[in-house]
Amino acid sequence: MEILKTTDLKKIYQAPSGEVRALDGVNISIAEGEFVAIIGSSGSGKTTLLNMLGGSGEIIVRERNLAELKNEELTVFRRRNIGFVFQNYNLLPILNVSENITLPLKLDGLGQDLNFFDQIVDSLKLREKLYSMPSTLSGGQQQRVAIARALSMKPAVILADEPTGNLDSKTGIEVVGLLKASAAKFNQTIVVVTHNEEIAQMADRMIRIEDGKV
Ligand code: ADP
Ligand code: MG
Repeated sequence: MEILKTTDLKKIYQAPSGEVRALDGVNISIAEGEFVAIIGSSGSGKTTLLNMLGGSGEIIVRERNLAELKNEELTVFRRRNIGFVFQNYNLLPILNVSENITLPLKLDGLGQDLNFFDQIVDSLKLREKLYSMPSTLSGGQQQRVAIARALSMKPAVILADEPTGNLDSKTGIEVVGLLKASAAKFNQTIVVVTHNEEIAQMADRMIRIEDGKV
């Protein structure tokens, strides 16, 4: 079943130098449970596409058209259905690992599913670090926490923008391997932007974007 779909998706930025056509009529369809890698050179529109997949435009997620949601609805819909993983992890420094992972649940006023929490923590190998502060972790460990946090809401879709950009190649492959395994276990869809050929090869499918076109 299709979970993400864009139809003739366009994005034009107004820059001082004039208009930048960041996305120029993108049509993509991603099936539930699929692991898709988006590749393309710097400035080709990858981040713009990922952000739009996660939040705006004529995009269908679980059969809801995001463009039709009001702001507040969109915030809640995104938090429940879409997990974001960023290159620079975006962990909260004053919260320990466990608290970072469960933060989205708290924001949503949801109780913690302890069994699921345990599964995520173990599959991402974070058990020993649960009470550590982010600043004491390596880059790979911090990225695993960020992934655990994204998984904690059991989102249908995980969007990751160069999640391994700050990791050495071996750690990057390991982290994406764990992400892939978790997603397979929980039937989640992953869209990952990457520069790394080896990571792109781990995906079910590669989408190449150049000058805002697929
Ligand atoms: P990528 O992630 O593939 O490197 P981006 O999606 O970040 O590419 O950017 C695509 C194009 O849009 C680039 O030419 C970039 O300079 C431009 N761009 C991105 N964000 C903005 C913005 N906020 N204002 C103006 N131009 C932007
Ligand atoms: Mg980018």
